[in-house]
Amino acid sequence: MHEIPVEKIIRSRRRTIALEVTPAATLIVRAPLRASISYIEDVIRQKSRWILRKQDEMKRRLPAPCHEYTEGELFLYLGRSYPLHIVDGETMAIERSDKLYVSRRLIPHIKTQLKRWYIEEARRELQARCMWFSLQTGYIPAAIRITDARKRWGSCTHKGSINFSWRLVQAPPEIIDYVVVHELVHIGQPDHSKKFWARVRKIMPDYERRRKWLHENERLLGI
Ligand SMILES: [Zn+2]
Repeated sequence: MHEIPVEKIIRSRRRTIALEVTPAATLIVRAPLRASISYIEDVIRQKSRWILRKQDEMKRRLPAPCHEYTEGELFLYLGRSYPLHIVDGETMAIERSDKLYVSRRLIPHIKTQLKRWYIEEARRELQARCMWFSLQTGYIPAAIRITDARKRWGSCTHKGSINFSWRLVQAPPEIIDYVVVHELVHIGQPDHSKKFWARVRKIMPDYERRRKWLHENERLLGI
């Protein structure tokens, strides 16, 4: 078990030790004036499960990392980080290879332009992955739309159309596939009943691991 770092120990005339997980997911300890460090460490060890759970909760609540769109800043695409590289020249607008190349002339509107690029990439990726899993499963969406949703990675309408947030294209491919399978299964099973999860598991036996990843890392995917 790894050590949990303590941000601050606040000593006062109190009788007991109290642990506080801050909104920034750090740990603050309030302790009696004479409590020894080893005693404090013992208490932290005993409460470690609670602390880690609380930190996890707080991390998920943190706002999305804010991009400044400067040279070298990292952008996620299919689970990999690409440094932004601003280039002179008129021919290309945005291109991804080893880096994410962006023409200098786009800089005044870079946020909008990058979002537009992500939306187009998401459309291509999600259509291809949907088609692949449609062939495997027989669930065929009436339409596929890319949305600007911040908190829902995907949704399925009662008419069998599927929506995906363009932000999903930042996640690793196996995570995207989980969301695709999840929404495809909703075409035949609109709820989250046992039957629904049984169908998801049949197509993707390790879906729980992927679902957990998405839950723990969703904050990374805000842009
Ligand atoms: Zn669902």
